[in-house]
Amino acid sequence: MTITLDTPVTDFPGVGPARAKKLEKLGILRAADLLTYYPRDYEDRRRIWSIRAAPLGEKVCVSALAAERPVLSYIRKGMELVKLRVVDNSGTLYLTFFNQSYLKNSFQPGEEYVFYGEIQEQGSRRSMVNPVFEREGDRDFTGRIVPVYPLTAGISNHLMVSLIRQAVEQCAGQGAESLPASLRAAHRLVPAERACRDIHFPEDFDALEQARRRLTFEELFYLSAGLTLLKDRRDSQCSAAVFAPRPLEAFCALLPFAPTQAQRRAMEETAWDLASGRPMNRLVQGDVGSGKTTVAAWGAWLAAQSGWQSALMAPTEVLAEQHYRTMNQLLSPAGVRVALFTGSMTAAEKRAARAALRSGEVDLAVGTQALLSQGVDFARLGLVITDEQHRFGVAQRAALAAKGAAPQSSSPHVLVMSATPIPRTLALIIYGDLDVSVIDQLPPGRVPVQTFVVGESKRQRMYNFVRKQAGEGRQTYIVCPAVEESTGDGAPPGLMDLKAVKVYARQLQEQVFPQLRVGLLYGKMKPREKEAVMSAFARGELQVLVSTTVIEVGVDVPNAALMIVENAERFGLSQLHQLRGRVGRGRHQSYCVLLTSNRSPDTLARLRVFASTTDGFKISEEDLKLRGPGDFFGRRQHGLPTLRLADLSGDMRLLSEAQQAARDLLSADPRLALGENRPVLERVRALFSDTPDIFN
Ligand code: ADP
Ligand code: MG
Repeated sequence: MTITLDTPVTDFPGVGPARAKKLEKLGILRAADLLTYYPRDYEDRRRIWSIRAAPLGEKVCVSALAAERPVLSYIRKGMELVKLRVVDNSGTLYLTFFNQSYLKNSFQPGEEYVFYGEIQEQGSRRSMVNPVFEREGDRDFTGRIVPVYPLTAGISNHLMVSLIRQAVEQCAGQGAESLPASLRAAHRLVPAERACRDIHFPEDFDALEQARRRLTFEELFYLSAGLTLLKDRRDSQCSAAVFAPRPLEAFCALLPFAPTQAQRRAMEETAWDLASGRPMNRLVQGDVGSGKTTVAAWGAWLAAQSGWQSALMAPTEVLAEQHYRTMNQLLSPAGVRVALFTGSMTAAEKRAARAALRSGEVDLAVGTQALLSQGVDFARLGLVITDEQHRFGVAQRAALAAKGAAPQSSSPHVLVMSATPIPRTLALIIYGDLDVSVIDQLPPGRVPVQTFVVGESKRQRMYNFVRKQAGEGRQTYIVCPAVEESTGDGAPPGLMDLKAVKVYARQLQEQVFPQLRVGLLYGKMKPREKEAVMSAFARGELQVLVSTTVIEVGVDVPNAALMIVENAERFGLSQLHQLRGRVGRGRHQSYCVLLTSNRSPDTLARLRVFASTTDGFKISEEDLKLRGPGDFFGRRQHGLPTLRLADLSGDMRLLSEAQQAARDLLSADPRLALGENRPVLERVRALFSDTPDIFN
């Protein structure tokens, strides 16, 4: 059978409809998909050992003769054993297979097989449990480096290797080389065909490294090229609203504090962009509590001064409402009209708000995703601000920006505020299309939060501490990791279901803190109730706020000085950093208590790393190392193509190299119009095909 890149997997021997379905789940439909289905690991099975000489403590290949027929026995219900004795010149090896009774017919006495597994030794008796094996004559899996693929139930590694081997043998050479030759030479990258063979079936680890390097480079290169194209395209769209420059001091007069140097710098950079006539695309990065909101307010104020509208989009209603209060307080004295848009407003409220927006009676619209919905039209949208950006994808940002485009055929300015300090590699990728202002300074007088990791036995002492804080006029958050849907059969360990959180809050109020006022906040609450609870807490009427993670992002109550996190092991470090960032916002010494009954050394080590530093960048690096980029954002969409190979905690150098190469290529050929660069353009388009509206 001849295989081309387009051959469907159903044409491969051994793939019927059931397996095809499972392969489809892995994203494999055609031979081309097999080529890019990369191994997650490799087994070095090049060396074949004798039974006696084989080392212990690692997996090894042993070639030996079956000395007898396999013996099947049942040790108890549901447990079957197949035993087999095999021999070579050096000795005997005793094999045991659990629950694979079909193997009793798989060995012929006197035949030679290669077994792969770890040898155990008791006295001089050597044995192996559940080895994989093949006939000595076949050697499909032995004498080589064997790829190990990510799998799904019903698809064995054996099958995957065999499918991919066929695809690689027949069509590794059919894919066009997409990287220009000069670029490959400059960066010492092996050709596409060789990389494709060697990433699956390398002769040695050097060949594997070369292949990995080429393919990782390629991945980062196309991604960078795409982001650079995006940025260039926007930069060259010459029309954008011009916000006339105004003195910073005029704005500062509205603030209850003097901005830090770092805030001033970010504000100046922003103002410069806003007056340039070209659409701004700027990211404001700064640790929690560094005062990013002030920069947003400055932008909205500048817009209003020049008669333009702004939109400020927040990821949760709690945060949208808080921003609404802050902006209103700050800007309405300056005549800026602020309105709130959330999904849960009544139809009549929405209608009124939309009409006001459309007729230009509103200068600043603060809201959630609701701002993106159909029917929300601006009269003169000049600036789009998204807060806590990593929750919004590139595509959502683009959608909001497009709202400005229609009536006045110019792009609005975009200001993005990052929630979490993120590692530099990741920032380059996710914000590769943005200019960056960094606020690397906290407002003066902040006292670093003290963090403690404690076990269940300290619970009563912790409650006493809450009372003591309340006695000094301070407030406390108690955050519970919760599933808000009722799962029926209870929540997974460590997670409380909503009912449990409610019960806990009631207990705290009635039994633990009868003299204090305890409030409860969770995602599924009616927005009005949420708003009521949040503002009661902000006004200091509640001393304790029990909450699910809706409190995680951005919420700002400077009088809160104690953050307690229940089942802290359930949270990622960056999330804990966000939670801790809810306290330490005022002048009081603040505390963060991580409660965990998990005794695993890994968990404790992780939490102690967290307790030992308040540097958000350090924490996010650590988080990235521990969880990998895929999980870094949880399941939240960041709207960018997935990276198959690049490991963002390790490939920093390759990333800068690829990024530089992409920029060089684009500055020489901005539209990728030259013949030898066409394949690059095609690959970039394909990579971003899930993110519509970006390249058309
Ligand atoms: P974040 O960067 O986490 O969004 P915020 O903008 O919410 O931080 O600011 C955190 C808190 O610090 C707010 O209460 C804000 O009023 C206050 N704040 C911001 N800038 C300053 C400053 N320069 N001096 C004093 N307090 C400030
Ligand atoms: Mg914020």
